[in-house]
Amino acid sequence: MQLNELEDFLDKLPRRKIGFYPTPFHRLQNMSRSHGINLFMKREDMAGPGALSGSKMRVAEMIIGQALQDGVDTIITQGAHLTNSGMQFATAALVAGITPILFLTRDEKQHGELTEYRGNLLLDKLMDVETHYLSAPGSAYINRPDDKQRVLDAMNARKAELEAQGRKVLIVPTGGAHPAGFAAHVRTFLEMVGQARSAGVELDYIYHTTGTGTALPGMLAAKLLTGHPVKFRSISISNYQPDFWINEAIIAERVRHIFRSFSIEPLPEKAILREIEVDNRFIGDNYAVPSSESMAAIKELARQEGVFLGPVYTGKGFAGLLEHIRSGKVAPGSNVAFLHTGDTANLFEVSGVVGGFE
Ligand SMILES: *Cc1c(COP(=O)(O)O)cnc(C)c1O
Repeated sequence: MQLNELEDFLDKLPRRKIGFYPTPFHRLQNMSRSHGINLFMKREDMAGPGALSGSKMRVAEMIIGQALQDGVDTIITQGAHLTNSGMQFATAALVAGITPILFLTRDEKQHGELTEYRGNLLLDKLMDVETHYLSAPGSAYINRPDDKQRVLDAMNARKAELEAQGRKVLIVPTGGAHPAGFAAHVRTFLEMVGQARSAGVELDYIYHTTGTGTALPGMLAAKLLTGHPVKFRSISISNYQPDFWINEAIIAERVRHIFRSFSIEPLPEKAILREIEVDNRFIGDNYAVPSSESMAAIKELARQEGVFLGPVYTGKGFAGLLEHIRSGKVAPGSNVAFLHTGDTANLFEVSGVVGGFE
């Protein structure tokens, strides 16, 4: 299938335009020179409408497009207290005239008591978003089934209250992992391939940070539908494994869902799994704890290109890319794009990226 044919399929799905698209795509001149590859960056962090944005904006546009058709007036979503997704969903909902409600979890042992508004939380507060705080031990990303259930119960209780008042409420899972949004990043792929061609290159690799699994399915479906030879390399911020809440099989099923939403017979799971390569080695100590490699990667990119990554997601993803270049997993001269999924607000939330004031 040609790129423009795929775009026609995509245009049939509901979407409420909110961000600024296509997002920029540009060459990183200094990094390309110092690492001996052709390195480009796709700027989902600049998706808008605010200056601090990210890859969830496209996902929110599609889920909200469907929600508006369904008469939804309130969206409840959840995440860690520093959630990028929650902030972008809140923004998108407000712009579309829908009331956003956030349920945020925090591990006080790891991150301390909440004492001030910083990072995404400050932006949520500025937008006056109804926010509920829950504590969840282990990690800011809740993994234990009973913690998950507690959050779900709290969201459902608020939903029931609002429904009793005649409101129509949609609950969107962590990271915007709702089926109405899985196709959103098909468009990212189409933009990127087109922008690379305008720059005179065909991409060999697309690198990105993977977490809740909302960016990869769309991009991968687009690659498979258009037959583009580019390879995906996903650096994870939570350990992808068979019995975890996110893993390669779930990504593959989402790719199949996208095929079905275009009324195209999906490829078998095996053919999709072959294209997924997740590297779990760059998580560091824990979710939302900056690793030494990620801090080094954030600094290197800032010093060479003036582009700012974040400590929770994109710093770790970029650290993975730099290691793959150093170890020869990416051959010299390759055309590589890094998907900057956002996370910049977390530079103002997670301490320790540059150390104390000197
Ligand atoms: C959510 C998020 C990711 C990863 O999420 P996926 O749902 O796997 O695409 C990566 N980077 C940032 C900045 C994010 O907010």
